[in-house]
Amino acid sequence: MAKGLTPQSEDFSAWYNEIVQQAELASHSPVRGCMVIRPYGYRIWELMQSALDDMFKATGHQNAYFPLFLPKSALDREAEHVEGFAPETAIVTHAGRAKLEEPLVVRPTSEAIIWPILSDWIHSYRDLPVLLNQWANVVRWEMRTRPFLRTTEFLWQEGHTAHATTEEAEEETRRMLGVYRTFMEDWMAMPVITGLKTDSERFAGALRTYACEGLMKDNKALQAGTSHHLGQNFARAFDVRYQTEDGEHVYVWSTSWGVSTRLVGGLIMTHGDDDGLILPPKLAPHEVVIVPIWRNDDQRATVLEAGERARSALNEAGVRVHVDDREGLNPGSKYYDWERRGVPLRLEIGPRDVESDSVMAVRRFTPEGADRKVSHPMAGLGAWIRETLDSVQDELLEGARRRRDDATVRGVEDYAEFQELMHGSGGFAYTGWCGESDCEQKVKDDTKSTIRVIPDEEFQSPESPPRCLCGAPSIGEVVRAKAY
Ligand SMILES: [Zn+2]
Repeated sequence: MAKGLTPQSEDFSAWYNEIVQQAELASHSPVRGCMVIRPYGYRIWELMQSALDDMFKATGHQNAYFPLFLPKSALDREAEHVEGFAPETAIVTHAGRAKLEEPLVVRPTSEAIIWPILSDWIHSYRDLPVLLNQWANVVRWEMRTRPFLRTTEFLWQEGHTAHATTEEAEEETRRMLGVYRTFMEDWMAMPVITGLKTDSERFAGALRTYACEGLMKDNKALQAGTSHHLGQNFARAFDVRYQTEDGEHVYVWSTSWGVSTRLVGGLIMTHGDDDGLILPPKLAPHEVVIVPIWRNDDQRATVLEAGERARSALNEAGVRVHVDDREGLNPGSKYYDWERRGVPLRLEIGPRDVESDSVMAVRRFTPEGADRKVSHPMAGLGAWIRETLDSVQDELLEGARRRRDDATVRGVEDYAEFQELMHGSGGFAYTGWCGESDCEQKVKDDTKSTIRVIPDEEFQSPESPPRCLCGAPSIGEVVRAKAY
């Protein structure tokens, strides 16, 4: 039953596809580019949703739901927006046996659905701010798809807000970028760089796009979340104005922000190893799996009883726990199975453990210097496991941060050296930039790398940036990488 995994160093992309299948996260569907999210993968998404949803509500947002379809004329209202999304929109032209009078677009994002509605909701400064979020599916007809990373239909959340001033909209854009960063670091144990996108990489219709960029284990960047200050672009396109206290009618300022099931792909590629997934406890469907070990019926009854006691102790400590009491499968196969699925801790309970009233805890991820296997008495088990899981969570973030920093070079100025780096080991390269989009495009054509972000201050190098890769003076520092 044990299918091998291609080692990451041999072919990371093959490893990724295999682990998605073998850990039962997702499978293919009859429609190319669409995926079935299997229960184990969906549970990870649910845990992500629930944490994010709490954070959105804590920052004052309310959930709503807008329709899947929009009239094609609505998408056409904001010129840059329609231009940006045209190559990947799916359009419904027929319903039943009749041709539709006006074609309907399946939402690629919902600005053009939400903004016509907001014009009915917003009249006065008293109606502002409007702070909405929606959990939904969207469709973008992508040519090249990968499970979770880029699929034709995907699940996401999209925040949409309206404000009285540009300052408030900017503050909201930055606040939600911060929420994403906190989620990615504290829950996913995935360190990210935050910063501003260049004009060529910003969202179609936005004034400014900010992003969180993670570095995957193959040293390619993943844009994990974006937050857009939309200016007054959509308010103008859909004529959304409010009356100020002085009785003036002015356009509102808006933002939108989103993360998607792509985060599951980010989680896989940040932590996984040649044995399979490694899940941070906070997002693991099972934080602990208990494997009772028996050879005969007498032993079976006692170890199952001990397993049950351990399960209830962990439940009480708020740990998500699963007892693997499957018949006809030896313990080794069970270990293998749960290691592949990335369960952070496994508890083995055999007859000798029952005798000594203890359990054997085995880590999926072992930082240097720690023991992989530790025996612990049944007494005080819940609190000890909770503590261990918390430290696993921290160790994963630390490990990922160290790996990211090891794959980061700063102050690259020589173009040949940069090209060699991008064609070789990859990673994040901090360089200068002249500010010209032609130069940005040339580097992209030569090396397939892009400017990921103009980094926020805390990520900037202490030294001022060197000259741009083209030799011209720099207007600032940028982070470049090959990306998903
Ligand atoms: Zn340049």
